[in-house]
Amino acid sequence: MPLKVAIVGSGPSGFYTVAALLKSGADCQIDVIERLPTPFGLIRGGVAPDHQKTKNVWRAYEKSALNEAVRYYGNVEVGRDIAIDELQDIYDAVVLAVGSPLDRKLGIPGEDKEGVIGSASFVGWYNGHPDFRGLNPDLNISAAVVVGNGNVAIDCARVLAKTPEEMTATDLTDYAAAAIHASPLTDIYMCGRRGPVQAKFTNVELREMGQLTDCHPVVDPAQLPDSVPEGLEDRERRLCERNLETLRGFTTLSAEGKPKRLYFSFFANPVEILGGDRVEGVKLEHTAVENGRAVGTGNFFEVSCGLVIPAIGYYGEPFPGVPFDERGGIVVHNDGLVQGNVYAVGWIKRGPTGVIGTNKHDGDHAAARILDEQSNDDKSGRLSLETLLGERGVRWVTYPDWKKIDESEIANASPGAPRRKYSEIKEMLAVLD
Ligand code: NAP
Repeated sequence: MPLKVAIVGSGPSGFYTVAALLKSGADCQIDVIERLPTPFGLIRGGVAPDHQKTKNVWRAYEKSALNEAVRYYGNVEVGRDIAIDELQDIYDAVVLAVGSPLDRKLGIPGEDKEGVIGSASFVGWYNGHPDFRGLNPDLNISAAVVVGNGNVAIDCARVLAKTPEEMTATDLTDYAAAAIHASPLTDIYMCGRRGPVQAKFTNVELREMGQLTDCHPVVDPAQLPDSVPEGLEDRERRLCERNLETLRGFTTLSAEGKPKRLYFSFFANPVEILGGDRVEGVKLEHTAVENGRAVGTGNFFEVSCGLVIPAIGYYGEPFPGVPFDERGGIVVHNDGLVQGNVYAVGWIKRGPTGVIGTNKHDGDHAAARILDEQSNDDKSGRLSLETLLGERGVRWVTYPDWKKIDESEIANASPGAPRRKYSEIKEMLAVLD
């Protein structure tokens, strides 16, 4: 009798857990339960549409999905179609691999104004995530502020800045392309509350901002230190050196022929979103970095804009019955064990940090713990799952079903593009009818 494991979520951390269980050679029956019809989590809905190479990791996940011990149940929402405690009853182990789908809040006045759109929503919108299909951001604006100095902030700024030609070989959704490329946007401000030394974006992503067809990166040389400060670890020091060199390089670039500008605005902490019902600007405070922390200087300035994208990190969504750490936005766990036979991996376990590969360690660790701690209790696993879903009239999507949706998206692609994404669940299911 195999060990029955349910993995909730089909993104990188879920599929690395599947791979680790399969690699162990233990007799397992693994069911991957996913809220959307489409698998792969942030690979589809988070990774930028112009970073197609990064998305290629899906091939490794597909290898696991096609293993005979594994089944995919898409379009099944835990908490709506089936409860966590039901999964706990019918499986030997349940792994939460649900990521951090929500936006962390700035916590400043005016944040609820129309035109303030968190990066989880904005990225989900341009990437065709069904939850954000109806977002319709008003891009009839001349300036936007992106808050944060991480890779997500860079992604948002870059997608707003690139020309239609630069987005040809991408899977940017049609509706987002239409809105972005019709926008009169010329000025994008990327505001970091700390300095260039503390910025979290990686160098490949930063360098790209100097190679855009229509957009000139604007850096104030006075904000760049002459050298990397003492006390950084080797890895941090190397990243910092490369980033400073890249930013210095930006100050020598010509703006000629580039109608758009991306302003790197360091030492700038937003304190208020300005405007009436709609955002009209952001009030920011100049900061100084003391002992690694941003400290206000009491000097304020304002930037006029019609869109604010806080890209300040993501936040997990609590599950009923599962203890949640409000401050961290993660589930409460002890080295990955949440409670009973429930484990957590990925961002819902450790918070929204690290690259795709960082999740591999989580998957390996969770698989090792499950195999060590859980025994085969003669649970009914997928037999009961299918019975319960059938009784509740849930239409689940199998992996072969997903491949049909995938093939249809690929067949519909514009010349040069990898696919034309469906962004509504009913459109995806219609492919199967
Ligand atoms: P991140 O790397 O943690 O960056 C968050 C940024 O928001 C930081 O600059 C942070 O500043 C700032 N911030 C946080 N709270 C703030 C506040 N209240 N007010 C103003 N600024 C605030 O997060 P992320 O960009 O969302 O990325 C998440 C993870 O995904 C990262 O590990 C990232 O590398 C990864 N990712 C990678 C890629 C890629 O490899 N191409 C693409 C996208 C995402 P402080 O530093 O001062 O806290």
